[in-house]
Amino acid sequence: MLRIGYHTSAAGSLDLAFDRAAAMGATAMQIFVSNPRGWKAELPAQGIIGGFVRKGHRYDIEAVCHMPYLPNLASADPEKRMKSVSSLAANARICDLLGIRYLIAHLGSHLGRGAEEGIRNVIGALDELSDGTGKAIVLLENQAGNTNSVGSRLEDLARIYEESSLSRAGRLGFCLDTCHLFAAGYDIRREKILDTIGDMLDFGRVHVLHVNDAKFGLGSGRDRHDNIGQGFIGLDAFAALLNYNGIRDKILILETPWNPELADGEEMEMLRRLAR
Ligand SMILES: [Zn+2]
Ligand SMILES: [Zn+2]
Repeated sequence: MLRIGYHTSAAGSLDLAFDRAAAMGATAMQIFVSNPRGWKAELPAQGIIGGFVRKGHRYDIEAVCHMPYLPNLASADPEKRMKSVSSLAANARICDLLGIRYLIAHLGSHLGRGAEEGIRNVIGALDELSDGTGKAIVLLENQAGNTNSVGSRLEDLARIYEESSLSRAGRLGFCLDTCHLFAAGYDIRREKILDTIGDMLDFGRVHVLHVNDAKFGLGSGRDRHDNIGQGFIGLDAFAALLNYNGIRDKILILETPWNPELADGEEMEMLRRLAR
């Protein structure tokens, strides 16, 4: 069985995301567990946690969590970095309370100070999390290559993994976004590139895939997702990807734009058919 679903709204109460995902026939979902546009991640009330855990048992849906957008682990500014680390730690704690295994994080922006400094800041920020407590596994997400962003080059992700103490604690891995790979110049329409990616990152460390088509061409550096089969990546490439060694065992999350011409869950069904 494929673990597949969408980024799902948890508006109203966290547990409602399970109902929304189940209504679409999903077997996975991605949620925010704190305000996606805020710094502070408040621990949910006991009743909310209980409700989420109960529904998690009722439905066969694996929930993964995405970090809010403001934290910037690559920032050189001490105050920003401290707030970012606090946010990461708080989100990881909430994941533990909710029984969520994977927390997906962007690496942030070096804000013009250069990739090298950005990478070192990310490693330092992650190290602050490896204090021996906590279980949630932080998944570094590859980026599209927007100006100053850290993490679009897979070599950089691999290096952060190697140099971070969080990986030695068994709490670090990767989330690969297909649109971001393509925008960063990795032509995933060619099957050979998957071997290269596997060599660089080790697919055993990749636990979640963001399955998105790309609105712009190869190497555009632009983070604009498209619906499956309607962008530059195309259905054939998704079919090849889903049938590539071990990929079907990953958690697949769609973050595609809302499209009035697509029924609820239609892209998920499309991917299920492609994964023959
Ligand atoms: Zn993301
Ligand atoms: Zn994106």
